[in-house]
Amino acid sequence: MLKRKNLVFLGPPGAGKGTLSTMLLDEYPLAHISTGDILRKEIANQTELGLKAKEYMNKGQLVPDEVVAGMVASRLKDQDCENGFILDGFPRTVNQAELLEKALQNAGKSLDAVIYFNADDELLLKRLTARLSCKCGAVFNKLFSPPKQENICDKCDGELYQRPDDSLETALDRLKVYYDQTQPLIGYYQSKGLLSEIDSALPQPQAYAMLLKGLN
Ligand code: ADP
Ligand code: ZN
Repeated sequence: MLKRKNLVFLGPPGAGKGTLSTMLLDEYPLAHISTGDILRKEIANQTELGLKAKEYMNKGQLVPDEVVAGMVASRLKDQDCENGFILDGFPRTVNQAELLEKALQNAGKSLDAVIYFNADDELLLKRLTARLSCKCGAVFNKLFSPPKQENICDKCDGELYQRPDDSLETALDRLKVYYDQTQPLIGYYQSKGLLSEIDSALPQPQAYAMLLKGLN
């Protein structure tokens, strides 16, 4: 088992947090807590929360802190989080990080590591705008990791689609939101001695090896 298993994956959109999460989850029984995936499920189910979240997400803005922090706090109480968890895309603001700390305290847990995925804007925009997503959660990329059959998911045969927030215009907005609101978390977690960095431009196997090194 991993030495460090209560994890936060931090980094700009398109840096590969979801992809490396999937690779890690293939090997280790961690719970995957992706706030983006949870919110997209709420939208698909047309819940009240989903309808509210959709307005923010389609504009590339953040869903209010209290809403996402509440979702995460209740998810952390689930049994499968006992073996460890990956928080993928949360926290995204210093306020969310503080709310997370309280939630973890209440659950008798603490973070073991924060993995920071570093990448430059050019690569991020290239990846985001070429991304193909599936309802099942699988993610492909027209340029870097195309599906075997055009527009069809390798895992479930579902039809692939471009997320509305992966248009160039919204991707640019999301990057701006990242630099304004999320980037300060790098210093926040560095000062707590939790941060380790991965170069997102590396090929996947190398990035994964680097990740494991940081967790053992
Ligand atoms: P990516 O990391 O590729 O940008 P996500 O699926 O993590 O994509 O997030 C998509 C959108 O969901 C964000 O742009 C935001 O609107 C919303 N969202 C996800 N996580 C959070 C969060 N922790 N706080 C606020 N909004 C969030
Ligand atoms: Zn699928």
